[in-house]
Amino acid sequence: MINNSQKIKVFRESIPSFACKPGCHDCCGPVTASSEEVSRLPMKSDAEHDEALAEFNCPYLGKNGCEVYDERPLICRLFGTTPSLPCPNSCAPTQMTDPKIERQVLKFHKETRQVLL
Ligand code: SF4
Ligand code: SF4
Repeated sequence: MINNSQKIKVFRESIPSFACKPGCHDCCGPVTASSEEVSRLPMKSDAEHDEALAEFNCPYLGKNGCEVYDERPLICRLFGTTPSLPCPNSCAPTQMTDPKIERQVLKFHKETRQVLL
C-alpha cells in the first residue's frame, strides 16, 4: 500500500502543467492542502496568515507570483486542468487531467486532514 508521500508524487506527475497568462494569479486564494504537503512549505506567521486571509489571498502569493511553486499543493496544480476547475482566462494544457486521476486526488483530499495555507 502506498503512503501519502508516494501518492502526492504520483498525482504531481499525473497532472499536466501548462503556460498561464503572464503575470496572472487570478486563481490563487485561500486553499487547503494535506498536512503532508503543508509540512513541505516554509512557515508563515499568524500575522501573515491573517493578513492574507483578510484579503482573500494565499499567504504564499508574492509580488512575482507563487513563492512555493515547486511545492504548490495538488489543488493549485489541478486548477485549469479539468472541466470542473476551468481557468477563467481559458488557459489549459493540451491534454487535460485524466478524470480517474482527478477523482483520486479529490478522494485523497477527503481522506486526509486538510490544512488552510
Ligand atoms: S490557471 Fe488561469 S487564472 Fe490561474 S494563474 Fe493560470 S492563467 Fe491565471
Ligand atoms: S500555493 Fe501558490 S499557486 Fe497555490 S494558491 Fe498559493 S500562491 Fe497560488
